[in-house]
Amino acid sequence: MLYIQNYIDGVLSEALTGTWLAVHEPATGNVYAQAPASAGADVDAAVDAAKRAFPAWCATEAEERSRLLRRVADMIEERLEEFAQAESRDNGKPVWLARMVDIPRAAKNFRFFATAILHTSSEAHQTDDIALNYTLQQPIGVAGCISPWNLPLYLFTWKIAPALAAGNCVVAKPSEITPYSAFLLSQVCIEAGLPQGVLNIVHGLGTDVGTAITAHPDIPAISFTGGTATGASIARTAAPMFKKLSLELGGKNPTLIFADCDFEETLVTVLRSAFSNQGEICLCGSRIFVERSLYDRFRDAFVERVRALVVGDPLDDATGQGALVSATHMEKVLSYIALAREEGGTVLCGGERIQLTGRCEDGWFVSPAVIEGLPFTCRTNQEEIFGPVVTLTPFDTEDELLAMANSTSYGLAASVWTSDLRRAHRVAAALHMGIVWVNCWMLRDLRTPFGGVKQSGVGREGGWEALRFFTEAKNVCIKL
Ligand code: NDP
Repeated sequence: MLYIQNYIDGVLSEALTGTWLAVHEPATGNVYAQAPASAGADVDAAVDAAKRAFPAWCATEAEERSRLLRRVADMIEERLEEFAQAESRDNGKPVWLARMVDIPRAAKNFRFFATAILHTSSEAHQTDDIALNYTLQQPIGVAGCISPWNLPLYLFTWKIAPALAAGNCVVAKPSEITPYSAFLLSQVCIEAGLPQGVLNIVHGLGTDVGTAITAHPDIPAISFTGGTATGASIARTAAPMFKKLSLELGGKNPTLIFADCDFEETLVTVLRSAFSNQGEICLCGSRIFVERSLYDRFRDAFVERVRALVVGDPLDDATGQGALVSATHMEKVLSYIALAREEGGTVLCGGERIQLTGRCEDGWFVSPAVIEGLPFTCRTNQEEIFGPVVTLTPFDTEDELLAMANSTSYGLAASVWTSDLRRAHRVAAALHMGIVWVNCWMLRDLRTPFGGVKQSGVGREGGWEALRFFTEAKNVCIKL
């Protein structure tokens, strides 16, 4: 049995409560680790450590902060295989995906922000011949970072890296469902020589640790990625305390396919955008709209490719679809398949629990599902399922398409498939989304603003946006 530990004040420790939470391996359904069931007192200790560390850390030269964070990036890469195995075991994702995407991106997050701070400059301007104004971007103090289970280390470091690079100290909580890679990160930070208290990682339930971070009076900024309902609860606590808030929430992303698209390229990438990481990515396209003249051809080819996806042991490199993250989540996904049938949809393939043999016989596997025949207004087409389930809907006109695509309460991302450049610009501008990909999906440049509109969130991560979030702008005005 593996015992995961908190990382507080530079030391690995158990929760002060002395209690533990079972961590499951989704591919087998077995408990393989215990994580600290921390509570408010652990968060208090972490905040105290962070406050003590802050004066020295924010005064540390950018070159030195950058060197330490680049060292963390290097060490993640040196231990890439160990991290990838941990992520796959914890989350159920294919180990090749963790090896190719999650872990390299975590290292990249550190390197990106560690080098960004070497190239920042602040603004200055003269007010006629009266005064000189300049802006200081100063770190906030202690930042709270809370992240979900779907891309555990990738999203955790996407918050921690800019917060630390900007000169803040951090109290962070990974999802209690997937704590393993955050624990490995603690070990890396110790080995890399990150000063004690600069980063503190507290494991435990959202209702214990997450709420304690959100409500703590000495944490003036909260960066959260997770469900919309949790985001609303965090906002309710944080707003009257006037905390800075960055909320990256749910999505119900549309994929818009026009008849003039490059058929093969569209097919391949839309398959990936629908089912990568078992559909458990906030950016996955779960509502696929296809121009009517192409609909039958696309549907038949798509369903054939989906049927060919191998659902299997995440450790097997031939596996396309791993396990869903938890038994509860699997039940939620299956309940949406049942709902889709009740709403009149036809399940063209998948949507069943898969019973594998051998080591994975009790794992939480669901075959990827494609559904057609549903109105765009029904619950299956409006609510976030966050699993391997997509719907296909034909459209006739651009106006009708945009009305359907923009109809949900979410507005995170969309992908548009067309060879008509003018249409691409027009449709991209008309979509109520924070991110629009044209003839691609999840092509991420870390300099770009990342986030959603409507119930998909508030604020933007990425590039300067993240560094701005984790600093306060101060105007200094000098009379000439
Ligand atoms: P949750 O909202 O359930 O949890 C996210 C994190 O918040 C976890 O660490 C959780 O802890 C913690 N938490 C739970 N309750 C509270 C609370 N009351 N106060 C503070 N923290 C709390 O989301 P999931 O982990 O289920 O992740 C899936 C969701 O995340 C989906 O809706 C998905 O769309 C969204 N997401 C959004 C992304 C974006 O960039 N917009 C990216 C990725 C995912 P614990 O799990 O330990 O209880």
